[in-house]
Amino acid sequence: MKDVIFKGILIVNGDGEIVGRRDVAIRDGIISKISREDLGTYAKEVIDGKELLLMPGFINTHTHAEMVYFRGMLEDMTIQDWFNKGIWVVEGGLTEDDVYWAALLAVYEMIDSGITTFADHYFFMDKVAEVVDKVGIRADLAWAFFGSGEDWEEKFERALRFTQNWHKRSNRITTSLGPHAPYTCPPDLLREAAGIAKKEGWKIHIHAAETKEQTEDSLEKYGMTPIEILADTGILESHTIIAHALGVTDGDMDILSKHRVGISYAPKTYMKLAMGAGKVKEIMEKGVKIGFGTDGQGSSNTVNIWEQMRLGALFLKYHYNDPTKFTLSEIIKMATKDAAKVLGMKDVGDIKEGYKADLITISFSSPYLSPLGDPRAHIIYTLQNKDIRDVMVDGKFLKRDGLLVGFDFDLTRREIEKRKKRLFSLKGQKLLQYYPA
Ligand SMILES: [Zn+2]
Repeated sequence: MKDVIFKGILIVNGDGEIVGRRDVAIRDGIISKISREDLGTYAKEVIDGKELLLMPGFINTHTHAEMVYFRGMLEDMTIQDWFNKGIWVVEGGLTEDDVYWAALLAVYEMIDSGITTFADHYFFMDKVAEVVDKVGIRADLAWAFFGSGEDWEEKFERALRFTQNWHKRSNRITTSLGPHAPYTCPPDLLREAAGIAKKEGWKIHIHAAETKEQTEDSLEKYGMTPIEILADTGILESHTIIAHALGVTDGDMDILSKHRVGISYAPKTYMKLAMGAGKVKEIMEKGVKIGFGTDGQGSSNTVNIWEQMRLGALFLKYHYNDPTKFTLSEIIKMATKDAAKVLGMKDVGDIKEGYKADLITISFSSPYLSPLGDPRAHIIYTLQNKDIRDVMVDGKFLKRDGLLVGFDFDLTRREIEKRKKRLFSLKGQKLLQYYPA
C-alpha cells in the first residue's frame, strides 16, 4: 500500500519546468510513481491536487540557522562592526542549550517556508543534530572552527569528533568539516583539515573570498587569493561547499571549475552589508553550480529561501542590467536541483521516480496569487509562507495543510526570549575572533 497519493497535481520540477498534472505516489519515503494515468486511491492518505502545485522542497545551501538571537539586533552597521562589536562578542557566551532552542525555532521557521534540506555551519552541532533527528528535516551539518582564540585546538578536536560521530549515522543527516574561512584559519590548519577530510571521505563547508577586500587582503598577506589557498592547502580535493565567493578573480573561477565545488549565494546579506554582487553569471558559465543560501538571521533576518530567490532574481537582473537573464526556471533550479548539487546530494532536489520524497505543495488561493499566470512567477515574486500548504521530508509531513507538525511555539519562544536577554547582557567575555578592518 502506498503512503500518500497526490491526485492530478500540477508539477514544477527541479529544472524549473512546468511538467503538467500528474498522479504522484509516495511509498517508504520515496517518490515511487509519477503518472499521467489515474493511480487510484489505495493509499493511507489521498490528497486532491486540483488546487495545488507540487515541487521539490527548497534547499538552503548555507546558513547559521541558530543565529536567531541576533535577529533584528545588529542593524545599519559595517561588516567589521557587525562582527567585532556584535556577533563575535555575543557568540562567546553561547551555551549548547542556547543552540538547541535556537535550532528548534530555526528548523520550524525553515519548514514553514518550504525548506526540506539545509546546510548549517555553527557551534555545538551535536545539539543541532539532535533537533534535526527529532523533527525530521534533512541537513548537512558542519561544526565551525577557527585557527586562533581561546582553546581553539580543543574546539577543532570537538569539531572532528562531531563530524566523525554523525557521518552516515542517520538517513537524513550528513556532515561536513567546517573550517570557518581562510582569513580565520591559517594555511597549516586548512592543510591538516583537508588531509583528514580526504582520508575520511568528508565534505568541507567553508566561507571564502566573501568580498573583494578579503581577496585583496589575502594577496597582501599570503601572495595568494583565498580560493588559491583552498587549492594549495588541499581543501578542494574534497567536495567543497563555498559560502559567498563574491571576491573571486578570473583565475579563481578556473580553479573552481576544475574541482568538485558548489557555491552558496545569499543576496539579502550582500545587499544589506553592501558586500557586492559577485560573479554569478561568469561562475555558472564555467559550469560551477550555485544555490541560494540564507546565511544567518544576524544578517538576513530570516532563514527563508523564497525570499532569497526573489531578492536574487531582482538583484541579479538589476546588477547585470538584463531582464532576460536569471529566468523563472533558472531561479527555481538554483533553489532546488542545483542546490542539491552544491551540497553533493544525489537523490533530492527534483520530482522524479526513485528520488527521496522531499517536496512541497503550494496553494494559489490567496488574493495576491489570483489569477494564476505562470505559477513559477507566483512562486518567485509573490509567494508567502502561508501559501506553502504541505512540506514533506523522507515521505513524512512536517507541515500539513498549513500547520507545522509537532511544534510548540509558545514554549520555544519563551526559551528564546529568556536566552536572548542573558546573551545580550553578558559583559566581559572575550571576542571570539576579529574581523580585519
Ligand atoms: Zn556564513
